[in-house]
Amino acid sequence: MASRLAQLGYTKVTVLERTDRVGGKSLTLYRNFTSECVQSEDQNGEVDTSSCVAHEMGTCFLHNGYHTIRALVQEYDLKYVVAPEGRAMFSHYAADQWHAQSMHDFVSASIMDGIKQKKIKVPFWAVTEKLKVLHALISAVSKYNQIHKAIMGEIEFSMPSRMSAESLNKINMTFLEFLETNDMHALSGFLMFAHAAQGYGYVKTIPAFYGLWWISPELLNGYVQMSFRQQLERISNPDSKYLQALRGRWVHDLTWLLVGGSANVVQRTTTMLPEGYQKIWTTMAKKDALDVRSGVEIQGIDRQLHDPAAPVRITYTQSSDPTKVVKEDYEFLIYSGPHAHAHKYVKDLVPQEEAIFSRLKSFVLATTIYQSDPVLDYTDKAEVPIMYSADKMSGPEQDGAWYADRYDSNIFGNELATGMQTRVGYQFYENFCEADEMLCDTDRTPNRKNRMDESLEVLDKFREELREQRVENVRVLRQYPWPYFHHFPNSAIMEGVPWDLFDMQDLGSGLRAGSILRRNWIEAIRPGGLVLVHASSLSTT
Ligand SMILES: Cc1cc2nc3c(=O)[nH]c(=O)nc-3n(C[C@H](O)[C@H](O)[C@H](O)COP(=O)(O)OP(=O)(O)OC[C@H]3O[C@@H](n4cnc5c(N)ncnc54)[C@H](O)[C@@H]3O)c2cc1C
Repeated sequence: MASRLAQLGYTKVTVLERTDRVGGKSLTLYRNFTSECVQSEDQNGEVDTSSCVAHEMGTCFLHNGYHTIRALVQEYDLKYVVAPEGRAMFSHYAADQWHAQSMHDFVSASIMDGIKQKKIKVPFWAVTEKLKVLHALISAVSKYNQIHKAIMGEIEFSMPSRMSAESLNKINMTFLEFLETNDMHALSGFLMFAHAAQGYGYVKTIPAFYGLWWISPELLNGYVQMSFRQQLERISNPDSKYLQALRGRWVHDLTWLLVGGSANVVQRTTTMLPEGYQKIWTTMAKKDALDVRSGVEIQGIDRQLHDPAAPVRITYTQSSDPTKVVKEDYEFLIYSGPHAHAHKYVKDLVPQEEAIFSRLKSFVLATTIYQSDPVLDYTDKAEVPIMYSADKMSGPEQDGAWYADRYDSNIFGNELATGMQTRVGYQFYENFCEADEMLCDTDRTPNRKNRMDESLEVLDKFREELREQRVENVRVLRQYPWPYFHHFPNSAIMEGVPWDLFDMQDLGSGLRAGSILRRNWIEAIRPGGLVLVHASSLSTT
């Protein structure tokens, strides 16, 4: 946001940042086989991303709908994206707890189970398993995309317009209830992990609104294109650029006819950045020469609401000299910290703001970088660098389970170590405060050395889960128990609160962000609760 302001011609843009880095929840640790490292350029200016590997502790993936981020990657000249191939899916559909299936086999098994339970109907001509699965999936995605358009209108991965009472009534339930009442059982198994895996809540408890916002027709269209292309690559040369281009166009058009939803040509939906997600923001701050004040502790923000012409007055200290209290006036403020904590910093919140912000709730998404021996049926194999444990994303009773894992050195460096591997594991908590008191305070960010206060309870649970999966020689390096995904409960959505907040952005009485935030800027929002911008920190000018 600060960069965009600078590009728009604002001459004095200041970023007030609590930590000592820009990037926020995009936090990348760089490691070679044994220790931390710095990615460097060779003589041709190529960054070596395979021997010094980016390990994402926060923001990680871009899917096919991430147009804004992809544009930034190009604009700031970062190495382009790579698509991690292969998933190890652990679930009750696999042979046992210790063996995994491919994503394709997992999705097929969950659909065949739905057919067996008579929840999913298939036509008489679908005699083989392949036809049954294909028909069930295509019909469910097509139906989802139609219903999505009817309820949410024409949005792709941005804030939906205010919904009518009739539309709200149709989504007055959890996402799972929404899928089931609309007879889209074929999508339940897939979305149970695809939704929760991102930390956006269990489908069993998250309001349908958030599910519909995140799982866009564009994303599902991309998923269907990818599935077709993976099948085709098995029967014809995947390395031929000509065949890939031909297939791309053909599959794109066919998918659009079958399921609707508009997406570009997609070969793989999920991609990653070899130079690390954090580098987008650090490069931006450097190239645009942003004035970033780090180590800032905001003592008070006074918008002087009594006088529309008065500046926003901000009082803060900086870690470089904590005794010196700085008072500065700014023409306007873009407040991009979590709104739920605004009452601690903005001294003149109006009652409507207080009422709205106090309804925001969050989750905890914990990442742990650790080392261990290879995991059976996951990192003991080539080309399976990501693991999901689908049953562990089924509901709050699974809080804290080791539900996902990534082997970044395999993704970016083709490493397949037979001994010690460094990987990143994931745990999700809906009821985080019950798990560990230290998690209750959601105003937590990494400290000034890139570390975050760790939760021993979360670590104990992590170790216990790995032990149960018979993972040996575990050595934890660091843990990041992020407060995550501020969101409104269903009751607030039904009252239209997300749109009340959105509309307040344009009111002088609201956060001063309002006076400049225009709808086209909102394209930059990811559905991570009501974050206003995906740049970091408080930008002021
Ligand atoms: C484990 C994990 C995995 C994720 N994976 C993905 C993914 O694959 N794809 C994806 O798109 N998204 C992912 N996300 C979500 C993504 O990281 C967030 O949506 C994004 O970072 C939100 O950006 P933001 O600028 O709103 O907030 P943040 O990134 O949290 O930035 C807020 C900034 O404000 C600063 N700040 C906060 N309070 C104050 C204060 N009082 N004073 C001064 N500064 C303050 C913080 O230090 C921080 O720099 C993931 C997040 C996590 C935690």
